[in-house]
Amino acid sequence: MNRVYNFSAGPSMLPVPVLEKAAAQMLDYEGSGQSVMEMSHRSKVFGTIIEGAEALIRELMNIPDNYKVLFLQGGASSQFAMVPMNLMTKSGKADYVITGQWAKKAYKEASRYGNTNVVASSEDKTFSYIPKLDPSTFTKDADYFHICMNNTIYGTVYHELPDTGDVPLVADISSCILSQPIDVSKFGLLYAGAQKNMAPAGLTVVIIRDDLIGNAMDITPTMFNYQTHADNGSMFNTPPCYTIYIAKLVMEWIKNDIGGLDAMKERNEKKAKILYDFLDTSKLFKGTVVPEDRSLMNVPFVTGNSDMDAQFVAEATKKGFANIKGHRTVGGMRASIYNAMPIEGVEALVKFMAEFEKSNG
Ligand SMILES: *Cc1c(COP(=O)(O)O)cnc(C)c1O
Repeated sequence: MNRVYNFSAGPSMLPVPVLEKAAAQMLDYEGSGQSVMEMSHRSKVFGTIIEGAEALIRELMNIPDNYKVLFLQGGASSQFAMVPMNLMTKSGKADYVITGQWAKKAYKEASRYGNTNVVASSEDKTFSYIPKLDPSTFTKDADYFHICMNNTIYGTVYHELPDTGDVPLVADISSCILSQPIDVSKFGLLYAGAQKNMAPAGLTVVIIRDDLIGNAMDITPTMFNYQTHADNGSMFNTPPCYTIYIAKLVMEWIKNDIGGLDAMKERNEKKAKILYDFLDTSKLFKGTVVPEDRSLMNVPFVTGNSDMDAQFVAEATKKGFANIKGHRTVGGMRASIYNAMPIEGVEALVKFMAEFEKSNG
């Protein structure tokens, strides 16, 4: 077997011990005589899986009791509509910060359902920074304030949260969930597609404060109403059973093998530092993000010459560094170094970059 170091932005690497455990349990999950793929979602045995997954995410993220955890489908992209349909129902206004394509898509979708206001944008410099926010420009009676916490395509992250006072803060945490501790009590709602840092594609996790449930617009489809899923323990219809099971294994790995989210953060910082330190001293490669807003998860970089970038991507791919090509709007390269990327993967990449620089610099 020859596994590559996979730098894909998502779907992305999963921890090897998780894949091994899933393989070992494939035909017979804990004596049930069935694969998790084959079980009724109403069975007792699947009940232990989904309850276990919820207990683990609550424990790892220290989620307060007045928040519900929902296991949904439809991707983070469905949340771009679900959030306004459920929350934009008092003043009908919401604030958005545009820090990348996902934030922009969220804003555009919400604009179909109410009065959206762009508080700030970093589009002027290809989203290479997090804009400074002035609370005096926030909409006082907004129903919520939306940010994309980690910008997967551009490699920026909020190190400081906007102070929105009583206005619920809503964040897309698709590409940073479980990468470090986060103070859930500062948010009204958090959502994440699982395929970046948590599980294979198919699962969307929503963490929502109780008081934000039950106010949906009349036009809201039943499946898009948070209340539907909160009232039914995410079992109104068939949940993404197998993906929830893998998410549970991933969280067991974080808890037992890594030691929780503080340890996860330490490991992620160590990993990202190896790459950023190299980029800061390289004469050929440079990071595209201002140092103060750099993400621990997604690291875009360029040589400044698109032919050279293409040559690097081609040679890197041959050496087993997969999916290192950058997003078309940034060009160059992007190394997504989510939780499951081992330190050795980043060390090997930096070693290869140094060799490439030597022969092409
Ligand atoms: C990948 C991603 C999305 C889109 O997620 P889907 O699950 O494919 O809809 C949205 N937001 C962020 C920050 C992402 O990284």
